Amino acid sequence: MTILYTSRMDHQPSFEQIIGGTQEDQDALRIKAAKATERGIEEKYEQYIVERTSSEDAAIKSAVSYTSEVARQYGSTKQVDEKRIFLLKSGAIQEVSKNDMRKGFHDPFNQIIAVDRYESIAVLAVRVAHELFHMHSYHSAQIFQDTNSAIYRSGIGMLGREQEWAYFSFAEEAIIATLSKRFFDEVICHDPLYEEDIRYTGLIKDWIINNIKEAELPEDKMSSRMSFIQEILIFPNGKSVFEVLIDQEKKFAIKLGYFSDRYEKELKQGNIMRERRKEREAFSIVLDRIIYQSKGAITNKEILFDAFARAHFTGNYIPLARLIDGALGKGSFRAIATELGEKYD
Ligand SMILES: [Zn+2]
Repeated sequence: MTILYTSRMDHQPSFEQIIGGTQEDQDALRIKAAKATERGIEEKYEQYIVERTSSEDAAIKSAVSYTSEVARQYGSTKQVDEKRIFLLKSGAIQEVSKNDMRKGFHDPFNQIIAVDRYESIAVLAVRVAHELFHMHSYHSAQIFQDTNSAIYRSGIGMLGREQEWAYFSFAEEAIIATLSKRFFDEVICHDPLYEEDIRYTGLIKDWIINNIKEAELPEDKMSSRMSFIQEILIFPNGKSVFEVLIDQEKKFAIKLGYFSDRYEKELKQGNIMRERRKEREAFSIVLDRIIYQSKGAITNKEILFDAFARAHFTGNYIPLARLIDGALGKGSFRAIATELGEKYD
């Protein structure tokens, strides 16, 4: 017997597809997932929920509208309920999860996003957008023989036989980081809401770059420092940092020391936003290589990226597989899926 499961907009299924198990197992998981979407955030986080300020609220809303529009263009049919995005006291997620780096997460089963409060609302907006892109992604679950279940597909990423993230999981993060960076370029850089964050970050970067140039470091040291500075998208509390840098009373070495300390500290706490530049670049190199190896069959990088993004949001690999196998030969799609698995460096 099939249990009819009706989904409302604010009560959509957490999984587009469930594989394995019996029909009854699958129905049970569907119901369990549907019930989970009625619950609030886990109790252990509840005490940390903070009320959004008006600018935090505006930042979260701008991330919601941008990501749902982009995901929809790539074929996602999911809606994310904005009320299920929880803002927590700064440092709460790190404290509860005992993990140094984590400042936000998405939970596709419960359809919840939680993000720590940041000093910069631009960083908050991009962080929320990143988690939202995950939430809009295709998800499927697998039921194993012991009737335990796990997420089987997360966007373009897929589990292997040993239940490890074997295929495309690196691509999943790279696609999301690329789209989140677009949100930064298209919205954050132009919206008056983030003007102060953008302006002071730019001023700090200019000051550092000009002064590094004058310091006449050896070539290799110079270029690594330069690229480190250039990849900063947002330096939180930029105004207070910049005021120290332009203080006439302070010696150059003191200023540079102050900057280095602040930089280290903020970087460690995950406050400096770079939006996974390394992943974005590594993925971009793979796209270039596909184009090169296709010997003219694929020429447009944007179209190629879009094919990956469509597979990510719709869960349908077939058009991407056809495109890649058609251009590079049979078996190429599988090889690239494996190459872009978890252990990609
Ligand atoms: Zn992510």
